Amino acid sequence: MKFDDLGLSPETLKAIKECGYEEATPIQAKAIPLIQMTRDVVGLAQTGTGKTASFTLPMIDALSGGRAKMRMPRSLVLAPTRELAAQVAENFDKYGKHHELNHALLVGGTSMGDQMKLLEKGVDVLIATPGRLLDLFERGSILLNDIKILVIDEADRMLDMGFIPDIEKIVSLLPPTRQTLLFSATMPSEIKNLTTKFLSNPKEVSVAPPASPAKTVEQFLVHTHPKGKDRILMRLLEQEKVESAFVFLNRKRDVDTLGKFLKNKGFPAAALHGDMPQVKRTETLEKFKEGSIEILVCSDVAARGLDVKGVSHVFNYDVPMSADDYVHRIGRTGRAGAKGRAWMLATNADEKFMDAIERLIKKKLDVVEIKEKKKTEKKIEKPVKKTQKKRSGSDGGGADCLGFGDDTPAFFK
Ligand code: AMP
Repeated sequence: MKFDDLGLSPETLKAIKECGYEEATPIQAKAIPLIQMTRDVVGLAQTGTGKTASFTLPMIDALSGGRAKMRMPRSLVLAPTRELAAQVAENFDKYGKHHELNHALLVGGTSMGDQMKLLEKGVDVLIATPGRLLDLFERGSILLNDIKILVIDEADRMLDMGFIPDIEKIVSLLPPTRQTLLFSATMPSEIKNLTTKFLSNPKEVSVAPPASPAKTVEQFLVHTHPKGKDRILMRLLEQEKVESAFVFLNRKRDVDTLGKFLKNKGFPAAALHGDMPQVKRTETLEKFKEGSIEILVCSDVAARGLDVKGVSHVFNYDVPMSADDYVHRIGRTGRAGAKGRAWMLATNADEKFMDAIERLIKKKLDVVEIKEKKKTEKKIEKPVKKTQKKRSGSDGGGADCLGFGDDTPAFFK
């Protein structure tokens, strides 16, 4: 469906055009008209389907007429992680650039000063993680009784992270007459209950079967033992044509250890997990998006929703304990029709989790035998890249900052 047929404002259509989008994605075509009719909506859609625009575009138009009062935001988007909240904020920037709306981002781990000043003036869209929002509410810095639109994004992730009581509390602070939109990739019974309790006669729209990996991602399995994982990973990083990759681990502590190990071995790698200071997390993610970090070693904090262009590989250094997490992890590659490769390193102890994954995706992974890299073995040289390209955003600008100084191995430059 063409965006022109969706009844969006000329300013919004202009911003969409500048993003280079040709057609509305299925979730956008289905959800936008309902949101414009002020219906409550339950959207069953994974990240990567264009779901963020499906609520930000009609919200921008709906809010464009009014003005926010001091400390009384007019709409609220709840997101489970700081990174996802920041991504929603980027969407409002991108699609709302020809409007006068403003937004504030309230996430833990950042200084509140600037956000507080914005809130004082009045914001049209407040994007927040549940904990930080409650924190500010309890301090009396914010009033929620002018909220006209509430979005609960990635509701199933909220459930996994134990945020449901916080959400219930937040919703009880909002005016009963409001529009509520809830998005989730899956619909476990706890989320279903939430929709019954907090949404009024919602219309359900769904675009892809929950938890189905993109067809463009090739998936492989390597059997190994716990001590062989480092050497198998290094072998794969060298022999695969890695443009950029996520390496997922189950424990934050191990994320740090592997990140340092790979960096010491000369790989342009960095670690990302939820216990790192927010400034460091944002900086690492920015460098990964720019391309100066090519291997992001991370916990599941990065498994959902992060949209980084040009990710060629996902390596599951650890088999995830939840099959859904596997689908989210490998969804970081093969986005928007691009090809991607996902590798899983599994030990005997992972059998139960592997079975659950293969049951969910309804196929057996291709088993590949990879010889561990010997300790004394030299690196395989990769062809020298001429330019460093920016991988995120639509401007495609270059990034000179490599951040690895003389440590950057020639084959990744
Ligand atoms: P999301 O599912 O919201 O994480 O969006 C995934 C990616 O799709 C983002 O990079 C968006 O910028 C992009 N996107 C959203 N809508 C469209 C569209 N109609 N056409 C092309 N790309 C889109």
